[in-house]
Parts: sequence; structure tokens; C-alpha cells
Amino acid sequence: MKREFAVIGLGRFGGSICRELSNEGMEVLAIDIEEEKVSEFKNIASHAVIADTTDEKVLIELGIRNIDHVIVAIGDNIQASILTTLMLKELGINKITVKAQNDYHEKVLNKIGADQVVHPERDMGKRIAHSIISNNILDHLELSDDHSIVEVKAGKKMSGKTLVELDIRAKYGCNVVAIKQEKEINVSPMATELIHENDILIVIGADKDISRFEKHLV
Ligand code: ATP
Ligand code: ATP
Ligand code: CA
Repeated sequence: MKREFAVIGLGRFGGSICRELSNEGMEVLAIDIEEEKVSEFKNIASHAVIADTTDEKVLIELGIRNIDHVIVAIGDNIQASILTTLMLKELGINKITVKAQNDYHEKVLNKIGADQVVHPERDMGKRIAHSIISNNILDHLELSDDHSIVEVKAGKKMSGKTLVELDIRAKYGCNVVAIKQEKEINVSPMATELIHENDILIVIGADKDISRFEKHLV
């Protein structure tokens, strides 16, 4: 039988992925080296097994090769995370997502061919930092090392002005890609679009430009 997902490492992060996938009705094979963690997921995941995933034989016996997407959420034991990822890659797993513990770990994971490397503590920290800078910065999504999308709430500085009057593209090099007004969302705002207080603007641009925009207008 072909299962869809396997989650290796049932700490807070892997556990949360496992719960969410299961809630969404996905087939999940949950794996951890500790019996206690595994028993916690017996009634949540489709299958929960105790295994040390750094052992290639063990991975093969688990039938991991039939799984399309494997999530490696082993945290502190970076060596186990790297070894597991390498073996999954050698076994020809279609998609491998790995949680990185630090930047060096991330570099190694990319080198050995992880398809997706996530860094939840660092990324969540960044997002929260932006929302702490201003109550009007609602969210921040990194597109690359130096480009982002931000969601900002229009305050008094933007209220009653049009995009042309604010001259956002010329002054700050950022693009307003959408404006949410209560329940309506306008995904191709015109230059003459009037902004009201509490409208939500979705803005895309280089980080340095977004910072200037945030400083002056948010
Ligand atoms: P989180 O922050 O998500 O809670 P963490 O960063 O604290 O996790 P750990 O607790 O170190 O990460 O690891 C997550 C899980 O991975 C643990 O439950 C641990 O038992 C499991 N794990 C560690 N090594 C292996 C291994 N070789 N095989 C399978 N599972 C493992
Ligand atoms: P993260 O998952 O964000 O890496 P964590 O959940 O593993 O963090 P800890 O490593 O326990 O959390 O704590 C994070 C940091 O807080 C550590 O660098 C630690 O030195 C520091 N820290 C822990 N307790 C205290 C304390 N009482 N006073 C000051 N610093 C502390
Ligand atoms: Ca942690």
C-alpha cells in the first residue's frame, strides 16, 4: 500500500506536522527512536513505529521507499538528521523536507540534496520581529535572502490618499499587489485607488526598500 507521508522525529515540530497532516485526512507514518513519543502518536497517525532512522536496513524494512514525501524533524542530533536525509536520498525518495537546526546544518542539507530545508525558529523569529516593530505590520513572508512580501495595515499616514499620491513604487521601489478592504480583496489595484485607514496592503519588494516603506508610511 502506498502511504503519502512519513514524519521522522516527533518533537514539537515534527509532532505538529504529524497532527496537522492527520487532521487533514492524510496517511502518515510517524517514526521516532523513543517509545514514549511513538505511543503518543499511535491514535493520531495512520501508523506509528519505533525506529532509528540512521540505520539504512531499518528504513528499508519500514517500506520507506513506498513513501512519496518524507519530513525529517530530528532536532538536536544534527548527525542523525544528516545521516537520515542522506539515506533517504540514496533510497530515491521523491521529496524530502528537513528541519535545520542552524545555518551550517542547512548548508549541508542543501548540499546532500534535501528538496526543502525549513528553519522554523529563525523564520518565525523574523516574522514576529517585524510585527513587533509596528502594530501595523501584520505579516512578513520571505521570498529570498533579500526580497519579501509584507502585509501592512494602513494607518493615518496613508489614509485618504491614492497610490499615485503616495508614489510608493517610485519612492520606495515596492509594489502594492493587493488591497483588502473589509471582506473585499482587490488583486490589481489601480494607481488611482484610494486607501482608507485599516485597509490591508500586500506589498512586495527588496527588504531594504520595504524597510524604508515601513519606516515612512506604516
Ligand atoms: P522540537 O524543537 O521540534 O521539539 P527538538 O529540536 O527539540 O524538537 P529533538 O527533540 O532533538 O528536537 O528531536 C526530535 C525528535 O527526533 C525526538 O523525539 C527524538 O527522539 C527523535 N530522534 C532523534 N534521533 C532520532 C533517530 N536517529 N531516529 C528517529 N528519531 C530520532
Ligand atoms: P529554541 O528552540 O528557540 O532554539 P529552546 O526551546 O531549545 O530554544 P532553550 O535552549 O532552553 O530553548 O533556551 C533558549 C535560550 O535561552 C538558550 O540560549 C538559553 O541559554 C537561554 N536561557 C534559558 N534559560 C535562561 C534563563 N533562565 N535566563 C537567561 N537565558 C536563559
Ligand atoms: Ca528545539
